[in-house]
Amino acid sequence: MITCKNCGHIFAGNYCNNCGQSSKTKRIDVKFIWTDIEHGLLHVNKTLFHSLKNLFLDPGRTIKEFLEGKRIHHIMPISLCIILATIYAVLYHVLRINLSTSHERNVEEATEYFFSHYYWFVVATIPIYAFTTKLFFRFKQYNYWEYLVVAAYKLSQRLFVHILSIPIFYMLTTDAAIKNFLLVLSCIDVGLIIWTNLQFFNQLSRFKIILYSILSTLLFTLIILILITLILIMVS
Ligand SMILES: [Zn+2]
Repeated sequence: MITCKNCGHIFAGNYCNNCGQSSKTKRIDVKFIWTDIEHGLLHVNKTLFHSLKNLFLDPGRTIKEFLEGKRIHHIMPISLCIILATIYAVLYHVLRINLSTSHERNVEEATEYFFSHYYWFVVATIPIYAFTTKLFFRFKQYNYWEYLVVAAYKLSQRLFVHILSIPIFYMLTTDAAIKNFLLVLSCIDVGLIIWTNLQFFNQLSRFKIILYSILSTLLFTLIILILITLILIMVS
């Protein structure tokens, strides 16, 4: 029997069954530091890569398996959104600095404020999208919080595509080209949502899934637009 160095619980085996700490907690040495670095660089990258790869190869089944308990190799859904939104915001911010010379000071500050808080805004939209998806698909076997996980993983797909699109935006010079590319990006977003829903809600007919995907996305967009308008009215 071993006494846990973290919580004092007495247990047998490799991990404390009360708090989960390893029974082999030795003095900190070079191996400990190396494991820390390895975990920071490799484990996070590995789970990040594993989740993203599966979300693009087989999104519906990946999310279904996650809900059913196959979770150890995945990054948690909200964490994934926060990481991707932060990468997006940082890239945008960095490229913005390069483009910023001719902009007005207060516009510049407002944009910077928005993008430094961008991930909070993005995370805040997940519950709304979960709500509109649940409203149309009405699958009784999933509770609201499971719809929230589905919404978070679908948002992660879109965020990843948006990150990849930043260099393209950076290269586009005319307003018309930017507008056209934004349209293409919106089509890709809706395509990803429909594709994932086709796999995830596969008990329904294809027609119903496509219709509900479009309707839930439209309602979501409408709610977001109303909220943004209300916030702008309140602020001004
Ligand atoms: Zn313990």
